[in-house]
Amino acid sequence: MELQANITSLAYLVAAVLFILALRGLSSPETSRTGNFMGMLGMAIAVGTTILSPEITSYGWILGAVFVGGAAGLIIASRIAMTAMPQLVAAFHSLVGLAAVLVAGAAYLNPGSFGLADAAGQIYIASRVEMALGAMIGAITFSGSVIAFAKLQGLVSGKPVTFAGQHMLNALLGLGAVALVVYFCLDQSPEVFWGLVALAFVLGFLIIIPIGGADMPVVVSMLNSYSGWAAAGIGFTLHNNALIVTGALVGSSGAILSYIMCKGMNRSFFNVILGGFGGDSTAASASGGEDDRPVKQGSAEDAAFIMKNAGSVIIVPGYGMAVAQAQHALREMCDELKKAGVKVSYAIHPVAGRMPGHMNVLLAEANVPYDEVFELEDINSEFQQADVAFVIGANDVTNPAAKTDPTSPIFGMPILDVEKAKTVLFVKRGMAAGYAGVQNELFFKDNTMMLFGDAKKMVETVTRSF
Ligand code: NDP
Repeated sequence: MELQANITSLAYLVAAVLFILALRGLSSPETSRTGNFMGMLGMAIAVGTTILSPEITSYGWILGAVFVGGAAGLIIASRIAMTAMPQLVAAFHSLVGLAAVLVAGAAYLNPGSFGLADAAGQIYIASRVEMALGAMIGAITFSGSVIAFAKLQGLVSGKPVTFAGQHMLNALLGLGAVALVVYFCLDQSPEVFWGLVALAFVLGFLIIIPIGGADMPVVVSMLNSYSGWAAAGIGFTLHNNALIVTGALVGSSGAILSYIMCKGMNRSFFNVILGGFGGDSTAASASGGEDDRPVKQGSAEDAAFIMKNAGSVIIVPGYGMAVAQAQHALREMCDELKKAGVKVSYAIHPVAGRMPGHMNVLLAEANVPYDEVFELEDINSEFQQADVAFVIGANDVTNPAAKTDPTSPIFGMPILDVEKAKTVLFVKRGMAAGYAGVQNELFFKDNTMMLFGDAKKMVETVTRSF
């Protein structure tokens, strides 16, 4: 028996080390495949060890659930478009939150079989704390993720929903939830437990509704962090060390990612955690409508001529490149430019696209050399020496309103200084605003040339025109 316990602990330790190596690998596109493999291996070891443990006496339900869940995951993952990844991640987080609530509920209803109660059925105090926290964080994660999913999927408006006294109400509900956790330690009656779960569901909903579309990236990574802490909570309830370690890794790495995203968008971390931000939707709609002012429009041939005669070109990819799946055609265009002696680099904004690392993934898929890809802070000073900034499907991440217009919902977000290049070429289909719904003044500048059309078709035509 002791040998069995030692082997289990060792296997969980190996899995935990593999998860840490996975996170390390995933931090760079060059090592991300190995990182992914480590994560898969770690998860296989952790799941295998749990399934083989002597406490599991029958496999019917487990195999049934693995089959149904695995099939659903396989179908969804193979069909999902890269651009819909944020809502998929939000949907998956909701399931982690719900699982935490269900496990806590099962343990509450039958504490004896989990080894969490004395002979009289009184749940141990430590178990009450774990159970209550797991259920509370899980419920907040569940309802918050459902709202984030609905906003990102466009099922409900992405605009912030705000009302007077909102922060006060959230603060009171938050305090109420903590008070119920404490009260549950004194009184394990069903009203207290289920009351806490209901309150936490409402709180998760209220925390996410005031958050506007442009701030969603931070919310997705914040919910990622919450789902990790909820999983760690389940780990305590189930006395499963692997789950505690994995949950803590997801919780802390999600929190670090939220912090990085906050920096990328210049948001305060505490504002995000408290759900106290959301952007000014009126400013967004006021300045985001169609604009009749004239713009300088060019053709693919014009763009080919300008770039072929340039000394250096900086490519700025954005969401539109992902929609058009233009990354391969873009790399081929850049190959031609390099053959002609033009220096090519890629500038990646931390929130370009619709998920952290979105552009890096697409460029890596198209075999763009890693040493040509630069983060915002490493390349922003290069624009003033560049002959051409080739903006392909990016908009908000180049918008100077972030620096100049305090009423703009993106005010304060660091942006790529593309306007400092001698010529700015903007590839997009029309004059529509970006995700934040704000007009981009760069379209009307003298050194800007608009290249209207689908990103992939446009770069293919440019390449043919060289
Ligand atoms: P934007 O959403 O600001 O702009 C994308 C532009 O691409 C649009 O203006 C659109 O213009 C154009 N476009 C769309 N389809 C095509 C196509 N097929 N061919 C050519 N152009 C196309 O994208 P950015 O990457 O600049 O900024 C990202 C925004 O998304 C930020 O506001 C960020 O906060 C937000 N966000 C980021 C997340 C992340 O984690 N990275 C997650 C969620 C939101 P047109 O319609 O005229 O073609």
